[in-house]
Amino acid sequence: MTANHFVCDPAKYCRDASCCKGGILAPGLTFGDVYRISKHTGESPESLWHSRGDIVVITQDKYEIELLAIPGLFHDPCPFLDEETAKCAVYPVRPMSCASFPLSIPLSDTDLYEEVKRAYPCVRKQGQSTRQTMWVLNLNGLMEAERKTDEMISGSGLPLVKVKRPEQYADLARTALDMQHARGPEGRSWRTERLEAAAGQATAIRSYHDYYDRLHLLLRPVLFAIHEDEIGDDIAKWQKLFGRLYGETSQEYEKLLSEASF
Ligand code: SF4
Ligand code: SF4
Repeated sequence: MTANHFVCDPAKYCRDASCCKGGILAPGLTFGDVYRISKHTGESPESLWHSRGDIVVITQDKYEIELLAIPGLFHDPCPFLDEETAKCAVYPVRPMSCASFPLSIPLSDTDLYEEVKRAYPCVRKQGQSTRQTMWVLNLNGLMEAERKTDEMISGSGLPLVKVKRPEQYADLARTALDMQHARGPEGRSWRTERLEAAAGQATAIRSYHDYYDRLHLLLRPVLFAIHEDEIGDDIAKWQKLFGRLYGETSQEYEKLLSEASF
């Protein structure tokens, strides 16, 4: 019998873990995620952030172009994805937002839900079971608790980004380029090239719709260049306390993951 609720079955639906690449729905990261991945891989939390982090941009109000920027994981493809085997190298401690995909996408956000259905066949005709709904509610609660701790660590967190006109994107891109170039030649990397490519598109953006469609992808490298150091500083300053701050939620998360068989 075919399940009428979501089943993650890469062999049937995607074969290449398509939700782990492509940059569309990049996962957000709590500092708790960074702590757990760091413990699992042995790489320091700070180094993880600088080498694999990104900024994820979430639309707050589509018409006002008000956006929430949060720390996230690079996703084009995700650096933890083994593309040959389509396996995740940090699966037992994967970010909470990876574990919650696609169950946490609110059905009420019909535009986003339709976009996700178009992109991912595993979501297309499937709802979720009561058990999945309860599970993801618990997970969202844990994620919320970690985000509150993140905010205590880093003050009020990242500011809301309001970009209402293409010129404002061009201003942000200029600031980001200045900051990236100030890091000097040793700071030059694929990130600089990605940023220069995104900033180079600022002058090509003319109409509102053209701009809106591409805004999330273009803003990611721009906001990363602007906020990389402040987030890295917070992680470096507080990482000794991460075990204590995120220990309880990490234990609960481990338990939730052990109950996720879908
Ligand atoms: S959630 Fe969907 S897209 Fe992602 S690996 Fe599972 S089947 Fe593939
Ligand atoms: S951390 Fe793992 S599950 Fe999440 S996007 Fe990367 S490879 Fe996929």
